[in-house]
Amino acid sequence: MQLILLGGPASGKGTQAARLARHFDLEHVSTGDMLRQACAEGTELGLLVDGMLKEGQLVPDYLVVELVLDALDQAPKCFVMDGFPRTLRQAVGFDVILDQRTLALDAVILIEVANQILVERSTGRRIDPDTGDVYHLQFAPPPAEIAARLQQRDDDCEGVVVERLDIYNREIAAVIDHYQQREQLACVDGSGTPDQVFAHILDQFSRQQMEP
Ligand code: AMP
Repeated sequence: MQLILLGGPASGKGTQAARLARHFDLEHVSTGDMLRQACAEGTELGLLVDGMLKEGQLVPDYLVVELVLDALDQAPKCFVMDGFPRTLRQAVGFDVILDQRTLALDAVILIEVANQILVERSTGRRIDPDTGDVYHLQFAPPPAEIAARLQQRDDDCEGVVVERLDIYNREIAAVIDHYQQREQLACVDGSGTPDQVFAHILDQFSRQQMEP
């Protein structure tokens, strides 16, 4: 099974991709996670893209496509892409990559959440550096004993979130169009709890009779 999850910043695509990966035994390929890891490790790529991530800018297409190529070379053939493709050029590049590997997409899921909710979710998001668990100051408050150690992603402060959202909205329309023309796009309401959104996604699969 090959899936793509599309959605704005803090739409829940990371959470849902992780759940789908567990449920269907897929490789979870997150370009955001790979880029953050490169920054944390101070690799050549990390040094190049660190400022772009902090400012909420997109990393150039050729770098991200290269990263995805590397990930697919190491991964089994079943995957869920999280945060890729984000531009039409990435989507077209990915078509070529899949063709070369004789792989076909089973579905492209768009998680739809209103802009205002995305801003609230992003700015209140906090991460536990010890466990990687994600909390929200208002919607999923952390236990008091770990509150002091929680961290905010550099790109989750309000100014950067608005910039990321602008870029997302500007670029994603062409990506949506691309997959709509191929009749591969399924839209899911992402405004509920993670359990509700996951149920909506599974519901889409059963409608398309995609359960493996
Ligand atoms: P995410 O964790 O998906 O929100 O991504 C965090 C940041 O990584 C984004 O704001 C971009 O700076 C960068 N990034 C992740 N995926 C891509 C992509 N497909 N194309 C360009 N930049 C990306």
